[in-house]
Amino acid sequence: MASQDCPHMGTCPMYPVIKLSGSLKVWQTRYCQAAYAECARHKLSVAGQRVPQTLMPNGAYLKLARASSAE
Ligand code: SF4
Repeated sequence: MASQDCPHMGTCPMYPVIKLSGSLKVWQTRYCQAAYAECARHKLSVAGQRVPQTLMPNGAYLKLARASSAE
């Protein structure tokens, strides 16, 4: 872990999603491994507030695909 790495990497549920996604990997280099103090998730966490599961580092929410209800 480099000195600029976010201290929440080991517990943040969004980190593995970001790390393994090609399209979201930009957040890893921009926030998780650099400016983590600017991450919306980090800010809520250090403020002792609940961090929504789908909150992205930039404050937007990740849209998850829904399973088909045609069953
Ligand atoms: S998404 Fe935010 S809180 Fe999670 S590891 Fe990256 S910088 Fe830290």
